[in-house]
Amino acid sequence: MTIPPYDLVIIGSGAGGGTMARALADTGVKILVIERGDFVPQEDQNWDPDTVWRQLRYRATETWLDESGAAFRPYTHYCVGGNTKFWGSVMYRLRPEDFGALEHQDGVSPAWPIDYQTLAPYYDRAEAMYSVHGLAGSDPTEGPRGPYPRPPVPHAPVIERIVGQLSQQGLHPSPLPLGLQDGCVLCDTCNSFPCKIHAKSDAEVCGVRPAVARPNVDLWTNARARRLITDAAGKRVEAVEVERAGETVRVAAPLVIVSCGAVNSAALLLRSATDKHPDGLANSSGLVGRRYMAHLATMMQGFHPLRVNDTVFQKTVAINDFYLAGPGGRYPLGQIQSQGRTHGVMAQTVAPQIPLWAYAAWVARGVDWLAMTEDLPRPDNRVTVDASGQIRLHYQPNNLRAHAALVAEAKRMLRKLGFWMVMTHSHKSKNTTHQCGTLVFGTSPRESVLDTYCRTHDVDNLFVVDASFFPSSAAVNPGLTIVAQALRVADHIRTTALL
Ligand SMILES: Cc1cc2nc3c(=O)[nH]c(=O)nc-3n(C[C@H](O)[C@H](O)[C@H](O)COP(=O)(O)OP(=O)(O)OC[C@H]3O[C@@H](n4cnc5c(N)ncnc54)[C@H](O)[C@@H]3O)c2cc1C
Repeated sequence: MTIPPYDLVIIGSGAGGGTMARALADTGVKILVIERGDFVPQEDQNWDPDTVWRQLRYRATETWLDESGAAFRPYTHYCVGGNTKFWGSVMYRLRPEDFGALEHQDGVSPAWPIDYQTLAPYYDRAEAMYSVHGLAGSDPTEGPRGPYPRPPVPHAPVIERIVGQLSQQGLHPSPLPLGLQDGCVLCDTCNSFPCKIHAKSDAEVCGVRPAVARPNVDLWTNARARRLITDAAGKRVEAVEVERAGETVRVAAPLVIVSCGAVNSAALLLRSATDKHPDGLANSSGLVGRRYMAHLATMMQGFHPLRVNDTVFQKTVAINDFYLAGPGGRYPLGQIQSQGRTHGVMAQTVAPQIPLWAYAAWVARGVDWLAMTEDLPRPDNRVTVDASGQIRLHYQPNNLRAHAALVAEAKRMLRKLGFWMVMTHSHKSKNTTHQCGTLVFGTSPRESVLDTYCRTHDVDNLFVVDASFFPSSAAVNPGLTIVAQALRVADHIRTTALL
């Protein structure tokens, strides 16, 4: 089958790809978005904890291997909008310090090749595009900024009370920045669930749908990019090989943007090895797939047997007091944020032997939190692919002492709030939800895969715009930074007349 050439092919439609599609749609050039998944149907199951957590209806079905060769089903989603369909929509800017080198207990978090001021105007635009609610000036660690486009989401009474108590502890709780659309009903099935009424700001709602409303933008769903085909010199991508409806087709375009997520983008480049690129496409640095990071994350629940928590939408507050240093210490610990309500089914997936009614009674008396610490980039934490194309994730978490200290601080904080008991559950090393860093950006082709506008140093017409470019993971949620950098890259592509 012959496919007419496009001006631009974007592979993947998540935070990076979906945003790129929208940001470049009004150029009028012919754009094709290739997405391996389908639209998530709007259906009652979207908000059903059993469907989402036990049946894993929307989760990717493929398996990856860990470093010991054991297969596991990654916590990732292949669909229009990518993982943003399931995110909590917590949309944070990195702190200005995150862009510089930061000394952690277990090593140095490296500097980014751009600073906060460079990304700040794109953070503004990203927040506007994704309708972010928040309160400027309330978070002691935030960088210089203007007001949020939307007001903060009000705290439920239980959380409001906790916020007052946290302030009395001398902490500085601040509203969690959240991307929500008009019509959001502030339900208890947001984080990890798709939004049945499309009121969560995700890359389908904010990126793909507005883009494909234009006649010059096409979307192929259930279409998986297998390989990038380069010219004889290995300097340009000539076509993308795509598996679609049982056929293998080639699409040609003068510009190709890979946005498959940090693991799959690295895997795609590794699978595209040629004589000119024997270790994988754009891999002269040897860094493709390396420096994989994911946050260290522990779910925490403050429990009191006599206090029923009637909060529906609980995810509205964050504590950043330990972000840059622990109390009396010199090393950064990370962030604590309130979480969506835990449902009995979710808790039961951890220990299935306990009956659901017991869990339901338990979680009704709990308030849920997340403690999150920066993961440092290690060359040996990496994505590889074997001869059959199978993904293998080699990963050992680090910065564990800082995370333990953060969890200890959070426990202390929750006990002071009068919780009887604090339960913890670690996301452990196979949690791929905040994957990043596998195709680092930088100024030196020897020390980075991408330049500062996310173009590969080695292949002229190839960009990678997703979580891959992060030189460090910081300790806030990655999504807004992916979106902001996508908008910056889109501006660069426009102004340098690449399209
Ligand atoms: C449950 C959950 C909660 C989260 N909560 C938050 C949060 O509150 N805030 C936050 O900032 N972040 C959150 N995240 C993380 C956030 O969703 C990701 O950081 C973000 O989506 C990554 O964007 P991306 O563009 O790198 O990849 P993705 O958004 O994952 O998009 C990649 C896309 O590429 C497609 N694709 C992959 N391979 C191919 C291929 N070969 N061919 C064609 N298409 C392909 C995938 O199907 C997918 O659509 C959460 C993630 C999860 C899973």
